Amino acid sequence: MAVESKPLENKAHRVATADFNFHNPAEALSNLLQLAIDLLPSQRAALYEYDDQVGGFTPRFAYGIPLRELGHLSSSSEHPILQAALSQLRAISSGETHGSLGLPLAPGTVACAPCISSSKTTGLIFLANDEKDSYDRDDLGIIEVLATRAADILAFAKQTASQNYLFHRLSLLYQASHAITGTRNRQEAIKQTVIHVLKATSADRCEVMILDGGESEALRFHQQIEKSGLQTVNSKPISTIRDYPIHHQVLKDLQPATLSLRPPKGSHEDLNTLEEEGISAAAIFPLATGNQALGFLRLLYNQPDRMIREQEMELAQAIINIGAVGIQDAIHLETAEERANQLEVLDEIGREMTSTLDLEVALENTMKHTQRILQCEAAVLFLLDESGEKLVLKASGGRQMRIRDVAIRLEEGIAGWVTRNKRPLIVNDVRTNPLYHSAIDAQTGLLTTSILCVPLVSRDESLGVIEAINHPRGAFTESDQRMIHSVASWAAIALDNSNLFRRVTDERSRLEATLVETADSVVLTDSSGNIILVNQAAGQAFRINTELATGRPASEIFADHPLGDLLMSEDINLPTTIEITTPKDRVLHATISEITDVGRVAVMQDITALKQIDHMRSQLLGTAAHDLKNPLNAIRLGADLLNDAPLSDQQRKALSMMRRATDSMTNLITGLLETIRVETSANLLYEPVDLNELILLTIDDLRPLADTRKHSVVYEPPTEPTIVMADVSRLGSVLNNLLSNAIKFSEDSGNIEIAVEWDDECITVSVSDDGPGIPEDEISRIFEHLFRGRVTVRDPNNPIEGTGLGLALTKTVVEQHGGSIWVDTTEGQGSTFRFTLPWEPMPKTGSLQK
Ligand code: ADP
Repeated sequence: MAVESKPLENKAHRVATADFNFHNPAEALSNLLQLAIDLLPSQRAALYEYDDQVGGFTPRFAYGIPLRELGHLSSSSEHPILQAALSQLRAISSGETHGSLGLPLAPGTVACAPCISSSKTTGLIFLANDEKDSYDRDDLGIIEVLATRAADILAFAKQTASQNYLFHRLSLLYQASHAITGTRNRQEAIKQTVIHVLKATSADRCEVMILDGGESEALRFHQQIEKSGLQTVNSKPISTIRDYPIHHQVLKDLQPATLSLRPPKGSHEDLNTLEEEGISAAAIFPLATGNQALGFLRLLYNQPDRMIREQEMELAQAIINIGAVGIQDAIHLETAEERANQLEVLDEIGREMTSTLDLEVALENTMKHTQRILQCEAAVLFLLDESGEKLVLKASGGRQMRIRDVAIRLEEGIAGWVTRNKRPLIVNDVRTNPLYHSAIDAQTGLLTTSILCVPLVSRDESLGVIEAINHPRGAFTESDQRMIHSVASWAAIALDNSNLFRRVTDERSRLEATLVETADSVVLTDSSGNIILVNQAAGQAFRINTELATGRPASEIFADHPLGDLLMSEDINLPTTIEITTPKDRVLHATISEITDVGRVAVMQDITALKQIDHMRSQLLGTAAHDLKNPLNAIRLGADLLNDAPLSDQQRKALSMMRRATDSMTNLITGLLETIRVETSANLLYEPVDLNELILLTIDDLRPLADTRKHSVVYEPPTEPTIVMADVSRLGSVLNNLLSNAIKFSEDSGNIEIAVEWDDECITVSVSDDGPGIPEDEISRIFEHLFRGRVTVRDPNNPIEGTGLGLALTKTVVEQHGGSIWVDTTEGQGSTFRFTLPWEPMPKTGSLQK
């Protein structure tokens, strides 16, 4: 329906319904000003927008006047028109001409209205005419509608701008995260972080400092805006970033900070350094994941009055946070790769060390691996020499070195310290370390700057050291130390093994040489009786090819010879000794014994010569006995014949003396011969002997003698059988000697007693008498050859006959049987002689026949 309107309503309607292009706020606002001019009597119009940051109004559009001629309007401006418009929130005109001065668009009549959106003044609209006509109420009403519409356009524009910015932020963050997390390389992650931070800000330069364990890495990036508008970022490593107190603060608090010269912001010291560096402003951001600082990033501004804006700070920190995660990931990956690499090399070193017998080659290769994995200039291995006073360079990897004969004293240098203290040492600046000894460099031809030195320790004993020399980036780390420590462990094991191996081989060769070259014959078999060794002497004695014999069964090599059996048979008690005769009629005294974990050994001494001497001696003794005894017998016979001749008393006395003398001489000769025979021949003829029977026999033999002296001889035979292994004739002579001494030395009508006792180990036989006993000073001597006590000449006219050989012989025989003899006696009260015999059914030595 068409409604006829009044002009005013028409105007208001036009303003209210005018179609503005909100998506182009500039065009919309310019059209709005155009409409204002069209509808109201004006030559000029202007639109101001409220600026939060400045706290006042800034001209945005002007009509009929250049924009640059319009100045900024403070909200606290005291112009009454402006104050009224702002406080009453309505359009106000200056009226006529007076009062417009000081307002935009003056001189002339100036009307002003606030643009209000959501109860906030977001702008001001001004209209002016030169006709000095005041704007009437209706005009002001239209201006108010215009201002409202302008407020709408401004609000919309602002919202769009913030949306755009948000979108810009999001897209930048997205790009950054894509670029940073897409790379798994630390350098690339750093670079992408920097590129995106520079994109998000207007900084000229960016510097990054990464702290990694003991190492730090500094990088500087420059941004270049090229003519085409494309920007490129160039980086170059720098030795370090200058030290600012604020850097430490940022790393500690993990909060960003800014510095600027104008207006001054920051501590005095920070600003001084900033000025020295020729930088006008800087923003420093922590590069951190969680609570852990990886380093920091700083944005630098070269031109005065330029500085990072609040919004940029936030965006930059967001990008830097993404960067930190990416860099940390890349570092983890690098560490993991490095570890994997190191493990691989360690594995290789381990294989090398345990597989090759050539230690020198293994050590040399190990040093090469070590140098490669640590990427240091050289890796060297020093070993303590035999004196333990010098460290000698034994292997090296890396740079070609003049390594021959390099030796250092144990008291010298870092290597000496580490060897002595068995502790690793990292020296990243050798010049300032008092332990460093430059003379070593002169010998090796290296210019040392940094050293990582670990000890080679085996069984708590220092063997030497491994040194890594000159780290590529200047500083060795704990992780390098761990790596080289593992290498050192391998090397120590290999060295230890090699030492052991050498000792065992040396020992073996020495033993072999001794066995092979010894004059005794030696035959060694394994546990199954196969020959391990037949030495030269045995080879010759048995006519055996010693080399061919090795590995073959002993029974085959010593076929038809008792030795074969002795080395293989299961039914032999070892150790055992035996006399054996070789095919060349040599007599060997053989001892065969068991060697744990090896087998059996026969050690044989050639006793042929001894046997011959023994034989000769028996012959000689026989002859001597015969030759001495025969003339004595002849004398004795002659004396007996003379006895029947008519002789004077004196002659008869002399004859009787002669007969006694020959008897005693014959006894002495017989005794001596017997002693020699018994003492020089250890070859006893063992057989089971019934001790009881032997005692009864001896008593019977001596009974007539005892009876003439009216002695009583008491013997209580034991209830158990008393079988011992003994040489019956020698054991008989022992009993005979003791009993005859008891009969001989006791006063007539003495009491003699023989007894036998036994326990688990031995049998004890005792012969007691109540005769004269033995003086204390003689007790220790009665078992000596030819010793006779004072008792024998107690009656000088009737001395007790004897040779002084009986007890000596008795002792020898008892000991030959493995027993012992002693006497318990008190002078004047009698004597008890006791001897023991081992209570053992089997022979100790002797023939194999059972
Ligand atoms: P002989 O009987 O020929 O003198 P022995 O060697 O048998 O030599 O004895 C050495 C010495 O030991 C004897 O001379 C004697 O002094 C002392 N003797 C040995 N048996 C007895 C004994 N039953 N009583 C006292 N003295 C003894």
